[in-house]
Formats: sequence, structure tokens, C-alpha cells
Amino acid sequence: MRLESVSAVQPKETQMHKEHVYIGVGSNLGDSQGKARNAFDAIAKIEDTRLLKTSSLYSSKPMGPQDQPDYINAVCLIDTALKPHGLLKQLQRIELEEGRERKGERWGPRTLDLDILLYGSETIDTADLVVPHYGMAEREFVMVPLFEIAPTMVMPDGKPISQWVANCSLDGLRRLRSSN
Ligand code: ATP
Ligand code: CA
Ligand code: CA
Ligand code: CA
Repeated sequence: MRLESVSAVQPKETQMHKEHVYIGVGSNLGDSQGKARNAFDAIAKIEDTRLLKTSSLYSSKPMGPQDQPDYINAVCLIDTALKPHGLLKQLQRIELEEGRERKGERWGPRTLDLDILLYGSETIDTADLVVPHYGMAEREFVMVPLFEIAPTMVMPDGKPISQWVANCSLDGLRRLRSSN
């Protein structure tokens, strides 16, 4: 390597801008608790990404069609150098690796669902990615685990998450005792 090019080489970590990203995890087919834990492991292995926090697992009643098993839900925090669409691609790869089949029915049963809830403070509005996730603030199975790992968070609408959680109804949501 020629000398003048050396100064341009920096350790990868310092060169990269990383964002904090919250990801919602859901599963209601097969070994749902195992799927959720596998999801955390797989997320930790995404390139240029670190898994920083994971919530407990929660069980919740399904949204939409009721003729399907209860859900296991959780939230995790990562930091990542991937751009939003690059991260979405990785999450969709993990969904497929955990056996997800995309069927027609909205909110139908699935082995694994990974949603980008918040990507730093960015607002993204594209055909295949909308962030903050449009439904998060109406879903106690997202907000309660999020509160567990980010109790001082201020939501994009300016309200503290603690206020949201204090006012929400926990119907059907249960925190599972951790087994690890
Ligand atoms: P919901 O989005 O209401 O939670 P869902 O998770 O069941 O429903 P999916 O079938 O998993 O919906 O995803 C449908 C599409 O949503 C995906 O193909 C993806 O391109 C798009 N999408 C938009 N915003 C996001 C986001 N923030 N995170 C993940 N996927 C998103
Ligand atoms: Ca990693
Ligand atoms: Ca979802
Ligand atoms: Ca999804």
C-alpha cells in the first residue's frame, strides 16, 4: 500500500455512522418463544449491527382474525450502520429463514414478524417502508415491551412513553417469566 493512501484508512467502526433502531418481534406459529429468541440471535448476527437490549417475551391475543394462536411479542434495540431499506431486507431474510410464508390474509398467523418501529429519529415514507411504524402507538404488545427497555423514551408525537403505558389497557397482554 502506498503511503499517501494509508491516512485515508480508518478503522471501520469509527468511520461508520450508527443509528439506534427499535425492532418489534412477533410470532404465533410453531415454537413461538423459540422463534422470538432465534430472532434475537439472528438480529445480533446482522452485519455492522449490534444487539443492545431485548425485552422480555409477552403473550398477547391476536389482532384481526381470532381463529389463530396467541402471539409471542417482544422488542429489541440495536445499533446499526445499515440504512433503513438494507436493514428491512435483512429482517425479511430472517423472517424467511424462520419459515415465514407470506399468505394473503392480513394479520394472519406467522412464524415470525419483524417490524422496524423506530429508526433513530428518522421519518421514512416509501412504498415498502414506513417509519415510525404506523401501528405501534395503538398496540400495547409493542408499547409495553418498548417501555420495558426504554422507560424514558419520548414518542415521536412528543409524549413520554410512560404516560402512554400508564393509560393503556393491558387486555390479554402477559409478560412471561424469562427462562434465560
Ligand atoms: P403490520 O404492518 O400492520 O404490523 P404485518 O406486520 O403483518 O402488519 P407484513 O405482511 O409483515 O405486515 O408486511 C407487509 C409489508 O409492510 C412488508 O412487505 C414491508 O415492505 C412493509 N413495511 C412498511 N413499513 C414497515 C416497517 N416499518 N417494518 C417492516 N415492514 C414494513
Ligand atoms: Ca453483529
Ligand atoms: Ca407487524
Ligand atoms: Ca411485518
